[in-house]
Amino acid sequence: LTVTDLVGASYKRISEVDSKVKAFLTLDEERAFNEAGALDAKLQTGEERGLLFGLPAGIKDNISTEGLRTTCASQFLKNFTPVYDATVAKKLKAAQAVTIGKLNMDEFAMGGSNENSSFFPTHNPWNLDYVPGGSSGGSAAAVAAGEVYFSLGSDTGGSIRQPAAYCGVVGLKPTYGLVSRFGLVAFASSLDQIGPITKNVEDSAYVLQSIAGYDEMDSTSAKVDIPDYLSALTGDVKGLRIGVPKEYLGQGIDPKVKESVLSALKVLEGLGAVWEEVSLPHTDYAVATYYLLASSEASSNLARFDGVRYGERADADNLIELYHKSRSQGFGTEVKRRIMLGTYALSSGYYDAYYLKAQKVRTLIKQDFDQVFANYDVIIGPTAPTPAFKLGEQVDDPLTMYLNDIVTIPVSLAGVPAVSVPCGFADGLPVGLQIIGKAFDEATVLRVAHAFE
Ligand code: GLN
Repeated sequence: LTVTDLVGASYKRISEVDSKVKAFLTLDEERAFNEAGALDAKLQTGEERGLLFGLPAGIKDNISTEGLRTTCASQFLKNFTPVYDATVAKKLKAAQAVTIGKLNMDEFAMGGSNENSSFFPTHNPWNLDYVPGGSSGGSAAAVAAGEVYFSLGSDTGGSIRQPAAYCGVVGLKPTYGLVSRFGLVAFASSLDQIGPITKNVEDSAYVLQSIAGYDEMDSTSAKVDIPDYLSALTGDVKGLRIGVPKEYLGQGIDPKVKESVLSALKVLEGLGAVWEEVSLPHTDYAVATYYLLASSEASSNLARFDGVRYGERADADNLIELYHKSRSQGFGTEVKRRIMLGTYALSSGYYDAYYLKAQKVRTLIKQDFDQVFANYDVIIGPTAPTPAFKLGEQVDDPLTMYLNDIVTIPVSLAGVPAVSVPCGFADGLPVGLQIIGKAFDEATVLRVAHAFE
């Protein structure tokens, strides 16, 4: 088997299913086969192979790839080709993975269903009438449909974990600061993290091993030792202490999802772990806190799209008109909604009441986690309150859409790592189990996920 064979198999699968799944925004066959050829030549030399040698990978389209169009699924960037690689893209090359193409998402990662892509929505491979989740919906669907071996997504409030749950694959959001954000188009800089979406937990460990680590190009990158994640997959969870927040299995959680989570806990119990009910008392405030903070940061980050520096430029007679027209035409409805909300929350007179207050509540939410982690190794609950919903079902109802992230958002606000692993089905659609760990304890999160899987 050669790398060219692997890449050929990936493109063959894409040609068979992607007209239905619609996971990809950009494919570059020539480039992929060139990379494959170069790796095949290395096979002959007996040189040591990278950790991801020859594996066909997809990359979410908000991650900068040199010479490969990067759109954030926005009309603003529909013709934008970066001149540099994000650190993670460089690291995938160093690990010798082959980039197959760029994956669909909600515009600028704002959304939870892929329906905010300004091109077209991706479909859930398990049932094409359903959403794949979002915002990394293309990344999850491409793996679930077997179009690539693994993919990278980004998670600000659930965008890796929720689509992974909806598509029945494994999605890991690392601790904030573990994986470099350099070259990730910023949505909410204090929350954004890049992570792997894979078929199983072992693959997740391989990809994380390849992309984690300090990067001087990201001022929030953490200087921590990177453990050997693969050797953490021992299968042993004897004596492990699991906290199960009562807020994560209460109101708003589909009874079938709850049932799947409880049976997953039984499996872990059978392996020698113990679980107890705990409380994260500020959970109810997490969604409001997140939408204030994430939108505030987004309104500031997206100021750079002015029609001058990046992407599309509208015809205009003067500078103000240039900004106005470029931004009016370039951004979709949800992005505009967030920019307006964020600008409002940051404006003088409202800053203290909204932005500052939300920052304080964020601290309380983080303290909830600290308190539980003083006595427990991991926290377990569902990844999302329901399985995937039908395309079109929630598009006109942003508030309902926001509530899909009720159990992923608190984790993002606390900055801690979490993985979603498949734990069953409800009405023929996959359900995800969320395993949350202490900061920089991805090893334990992966160990538990692997033992359960
Ligand atoms: N669905 C959430 C939102 O719309 C999370 C998005 C994300 O994690 N990028 O903001």
